Amino acid sequence: MSNSPEGTTITVRRPFDNQFHAEVPRTTADQARAAISRARRIQPRWAELPVARRADVIARAASLILAECDRILDVIQDESGKARISAFEEVMDSARGLRVFANKAPQALRARRRPGAIPALTKTVEHHRPVGVVSIITPWNYPFTLPATDAAQALLAGNAVVLKPDSQTPSAALLLAEIFAEAGLPADLFTVLPGAGSELGPVLVAETDFVMFTGSTATGRTLAAACAQRLIGFSGELGGKNPLLVLPDADLDAAAIGTARAAFANTGQLCISIERAYVHRSVYPEFVERLLAATASLKTGVGHSWEFDIGSLSSAAQLATVEAHVADAVAKGATVLAGGRHRGDLGPFCYEPTILAGVTPEMEVFAEETFGPVLSLYQVNSIEDAINAANDSRYGLNASIWSRHHGPETAARLRTGTVNINDGYAPAFGSHAAPMGGMKESGVGRRHGSAGLLKYTEAQTVADQRLLPIAPPPGVSNETFARVLKAGIAVMNRVLP
Ligand code: NAD
Repeated sequence: MSNSPEGTTITVRRPFDNQFHAEVPRTTADQARAAISRARRIQPRWAELPVARRADVIARAASLILAECDRILDVIQDESGKARISAFEEVMDSARGLRVFANKAPQALRARRRPGAIPALTKTVEHHRPVGVVSIITPWNYPFTLPATDAAQALLAGNAVVLKPDSQTPSAALLLAEIFAEAGLPADLFTVLPGAGSELGPVLVAETDFVMFTGSTATGRTLAAACAQRLIGFSGELGGKNPLLVLPDADLDAAAIGTARAAFANTGQLCISIERAYVHRSVYPEFVERLLAATASLKTGVGHSWEFDIGSLSSAAQLATVEAHVADAVAKGATVLAGGRHRGDLGPFCYEPTILAGVTPEMEVFAEETFGPVLSLYQVNSIEDAINAANDSRYGLNASIWSRHHGPETAARLRTGTVNINDGYAPAFGSHAAPMGGMKESGVGRRHGSAGLLKYTEAQTVADQRLLPIAPPPGVSNETFARVLKAGIAVMNRVLP
């Protein structure tokens, strides 16, 4: 991002050639407050609509995303520098995700009768009311689908949304706003606020009712603490250092291709990318040979062509981190099995898919998230050792297991929010009806599934008491009331579920 002298616009540069791409208005704190006020005024009318009517709008947006596929791919690529096939993941994820959420919301949000305090006398209904105005803060690495899927669930739950995209990638979020409007979403229910996190973050925390954040663990921690002061809800999808396990019974051909994809797709700038692989010693040499061949077959380059598997890193800052991690590892004795070089000849921020061996705990790449195309390989003596090494991290976002027979039992022992068996990351993330998120320092709360919808609501229990209150009636002593109720509770405990 670079700002105009007046600070009124954000200039977006294209990572493919580091040239000017777009200029978008930069939101001031006052403009953000005004947008939140407008959202607050319109939200009750949206919340009054039957859920099915809100779902119609989101389902139409899903169809429009498919119809606008090529335009969306161009914008995502121009802002983020990723390969077209990686940009397509965003179209696939958002088009399918929005439809699944729209289909499931009416059932998940419906009011439910619950057993009352006193059978027949208490009629109890559980409701889920929208929280009001939801802030969504998103990073640059999935600039279209993260805003689309998070906003869709917040809107389906009856909320208004203000979205702060990363300043590197505001156009993808603005295109999403166009699509929502075309799908019939009333004005002011979804407003994109491009601008600096340091300036707008405090406004969003102070003025809205829930913060959904995706980004680094450091920023997530700051925002969570600020939300705690106001006692508003916070959900954070944060960093990862995601492990992959190759067990002795793995299909090694599939595992090698899948590992290369899981480590290098989106140029490794994916929160659920694999950065550590633990390979059982009985299959290590055969696996490494296949992995190197699979990695060598990946084509890196920039532009809108479908021919490239790996695109550019998103910025000079990302390139600097990747180069620093690899240089530090090599200086401390790691071996580069593949890649390890900046490819300025392909694009200013291109970097080769890189595989390291001999990585030790003193190296930055051992435990810190690189967020780039760098995979560390470790040979382990047993499945037990692989599980222990995988869990030995402050993060707990995603894991991948390659095994014909031991996937589910191994998954049960991993402390990560998603586990993919015989694939890297896409099946769990793409299972939109099931929750997705991180354990440990990888996050709090979940997106997707009914957990990802209901977090944008306040549960409200409405109990309607008929005929008699739950208190001594006039003329009945406290002691008599207590004796009768004690007998009643004993009966209820025997016969009621
Ligand atoms: P970041 O935390 O620097 O920025 C993310 C967003 O937060 C941006 O929009 C930024 O402008 C905003 N922001 C920054 N400071 C803020 C503040 N004080 N208040 C409010 N907003 C603020 O993250 P990044 O480095 O740009 O993104 C990469 C990180 O995101 C990686 O760690 C990656 O693992 C993580 N990520 C996680 C997921 C997931 O689902 N778990 C998905 C994508 C990315």
